[in-house]
Amino acid sequence: MYWVPKTRLGKMVEKGEIKTMAEALRTRLPLREPEIVDILLPDLEDEVLDVNMVQRMTDSGRRVRFAITTVVGNSNGYVGLGKAKGKEVGPTIRKAIDNAKLNIIEVRRGCGSWECGCGAPHSLPFEVTGKEGSVRVTFKPAPRGIALAVGDVAKPVLKLAGIKDAWAFTKGHTKTTANYAQAAFEALKKTAEMRVIRGQEMKMRILSGAIPGTLPSREESKTEEEMKPEEKKVEKEIPKKDEEKKGSEKKEEEESEETEEEQPQEEEEK
Ligand SMILES: [Zn+2]
Repeated sequence: MYWVPKTRLGKMVEKGEIKTMAEALRTRLPLREPEIVDILLPDLEDEVLDVNMVQRMTDSGRRVRFAITTVVGNSNGYVGLGKAKGKEVGPTIRKAIDNAKLNIIEVRRGCGSWECGCGAPHSLPFEVTGKEGSVRVTFKPAPRGIALAVGDVAKPVLKLAGIKDAWAFTKGHTKTTANYAQAAFEALKKTAEMRVIRGQEMKMRILSGAIPGTLPSREESKTEEEMKPEEKKVEKEIPKKDEEKKGSEKKEEEESEETEEEQPQEEEEK
């Protein structure tokens, strides 16, 4: 891929100073070039969630525009939602995908289901809610095997984030697809924003971002050599055996900390 980076973050990626999406996001530098995401997340997939035709009468006649919502993700801890408006569908989809890349976030996964308690990052670590317009979406951790018991719009958003099992509860006009998708994305943002103290994160086995080899997906076919050193390090930090039950106690603690300002997460782990 021929690309001349224009931004500070882009130049750092090109020079190899930044090798993972986690590192890029932790710089807190603005992400303005979709190519950065292409390089750092080569397994990224995209899906068009909504194509909405908007017709308007003007002095010169009828004007048709398309409002498009897309989602991108690597099915392993990174997901982004993007919107664009334009006269032609094809270029507008491409613009929406680029916007989705620029909006990429790192999600936290875990097994927040008390019925399951397996400790693998197949679901959400805790309940999260997102809002957009009149739509309110709550995702709840579900046990293994439930799959994505969520609406058709939320499903690809969770899937591309790498969440395998979840329940969704919605309120409002979920037929407004763009708002539903945005509310789902806002809910996933909460997984990252929620402040979880380090000890608790280990105890609950909450994991942020990419987790190679722990979920049945492409990543399992990767050999040890193919894994980036960064990824190996993350894997090593996963407590292997920890039979602690996750009860209601954890929920109360989280809620009491919800309003606190988020610091760059998990920095202390490194
Ligand atoms: Zn589980």
